[in-house]
Amino acid sequence: MIFCGTTILPGERKNVPLPVPDAPPLETICLCGAASGRTLVVTAGVHGCEYVGVQALRRLFRELDPAELSGNVILLPLANPSAFYAGVKQVVPEDGINLNRAFPGDAGGSLSARLAFALEKSLYPAADLLVDLHSGDCNEALRPLVFIPTVGEDAINRTSQAAAEVLAVPYRVRSTARNGLYSWAVQKRVPALLIERGGQGLWSEQEVEDCCEDIRSLMRHLKILPGDTPPQDQSEIVETFYAEAASAGFWYPVVDLDQQVQKGELLGHLEDMSGNCLQEVRAECNGIVLYYTVALGVQTADPLIAYGHP
Ligand SMILES: [Zn+2]
Repeated sequence: MIFCGTTILPGERKNVPLPVPDAPPLETICLCGAASGRTLVVTAGVHGCEYVGVQALRRLFRELDPAELSGNVILLPLANPSAFYAGVKQVVPEDGINLNRAFPGDAGGSLSARLAFALEKSLYPAADLLVDLHSGDCNEALRPLVFIPTVGEDAINRTSQAAAEVLAVPYRVRSTARNGLYSWAVQKRVPALLIERGGQGLWSEQEVEDCCEDIRSLMRHLKILPGDTPPQDQSEIVETFYAEAASAGFWYPVVDLDQQVQKGELLGHLEDMSGNCLQEVRAECNGIVLYYTVALGVQTADPLIAYGHP
């Protein structure tokens, strides 16, 4: 295989720099299978405090043996390295922009736009399937779930969903996002998924192993690894509601993950310094709580809670 101008021979693994305009390259790890086949691209670290995927890709780099693969794997553990090393949530610290809202990119823009440009240019053409690994950053608690696209052509959406169905996560959530790494990919005809595991700025051995197994399952699905992919028990969430902070304040959620909430039920409230209620967040429909912010302090437009229904 050839990636970013570097040739990787069958049975070989290589660190390949992914060029970014006017910035240091991103580090990728490429495994070229001894036999030919499809290519899985896996990214992590788009957000700075989402560690499960980052650690899983480091582990897979050591564990996967290119001699046993029929096809290729390209791993990019840190898509936003300055945020990771500085422990900055949600944004690229150099410009304060959320990289997962920066697609399509711009080679002449701020760093987020240049990263988005670079990721699209190098990764999309290489991928038969692109998977972007996320967690709840340092401010959110969440249940493992996979976002499936609805904004691509039908065939691309269907291919993406078929891949999602092999994952051992309880929820498969239909997404209408358009300007992220994976959601822009599907609009460029690359089947893609976004997997969420872990949160609150933490990672555990179990979560990392579960995440590695997600990737191995996708490799089996693509026939890069041998073996079956038994159907998983997932609920599909067809419609999801996202509440945002109307202003900066102190956030007090009153529900838990997986909780079934009823339309009109109080999900949490926002207070000012003096204890005055700034915002009551109530369920707009019956649904299941998928993730919520655990941080006490939030700023205007920060996500507070997401819930959805089958
Ligand atoms: Zn994220």
